[in-house]
Amino acid sequence: MSIKVIIAGFKGKMGQAAYKMVTEDSDLELVALLDPFTSEKEVAGVPVFNQKEELIGLDAQVWVDFTTPAVAYENTRFALENGFAPVVGTTGFTSEEIAELTELSRSKKLGGLIAPNFALGAVLLMQFAAQAAKYFPDVEIIELHHDQKKDAPSGTAVKTAELISQVRTSKQQGVADETESLAGARGAEFDGMRIHSVRLPGLVAHQEVIFGSQGEGLTLRHDSYDRVSFMTGVNLAIKEVVKRAELVYGLEHLL
Ligand code: NAP
Repeated sequence: MSIKVIIAGFKGKMGQAAYKMVTEDSDLELVALLDPFTSEKEVAGVPVFNQKEELIGLDAQVWVDFTTPAVAYENTRFALENGFAPVVGTTGFTSEEIAELTELSRSKKLGGLIAPNFALGAVLLMQFAAQAAKYFPDVEIIELHHDQKKDAPSGTAVKTAELISQVRTSKQQGVADETESLAGARGAEFDGMRIHSVRLPGLVAHQEVIFGSQGEGLTLRHDSYDRVSFMTGVNLAIKEVVKRAELVYGLEHLL
């Protein structure tokens, strides 16, 4: 039997890629689309809703979310409260929000995923970075995205820094008395690591993790050249969350 899917944010760049992937997979059935601003009532026979409350009681198993950081938490909570397993790519969650949503998923016995990055190469980059950080504690992260991205730093950069900080002895990058003659020159700080955000037209989603040591350096880099790079992960997640009873943070937990 096919898995019934809702896509929230279907008019956006990621939402459009997800629409194509879901409609091309005969194991998935698209049953509803959500966008608060469109006047369309249906797309190729699939009903379009403006308000999430209109979806209460709908026969669907999975809520795919590629919306905006401002509504992602609220949407994920709504999905869990209404029996839809969330597969969320929208970024901007705090660790407290993730912990709260995980607890809610357990009480509802629903699977779910919040993934800062659905590209398999990016998941591997994060794992390689955590591995390298055990031996190379001096590290800075540069994330590069298209210039329409609303939040900074990227969820992938934050997740990478979190994974690194689990294995790296906490230390402040740079000299103790360094100063910035232009505010922000040294980037954002996470546990002493620096995260730099680049926004340019033409980019999709890219990240470098740069390690430095005595007389040597190691650079890990991942590039998503096209949003199709995220769809293998989204497809896998839709098929996995329906078998689970707890929300997880990071695609690696479903691989
Ligand atoms: P986008 O093109 O701006 O798309 C977001 C869409 O959501 C827009 O069409 C927006 O409508 C719509 N929207 C706003 N509020 C909504 C609501 N309450 N309910 C439903 N839809 C709503 O952005 P994008 O590039 O697709 O990215 C979407 C999110 O995914 C971002 O947070 C981005 O960082 C993240 N992302 C994640 C991954 C990953 O692998 N996890 C990869 C790439 C991007 P309006 O434009 O009319 O406001």
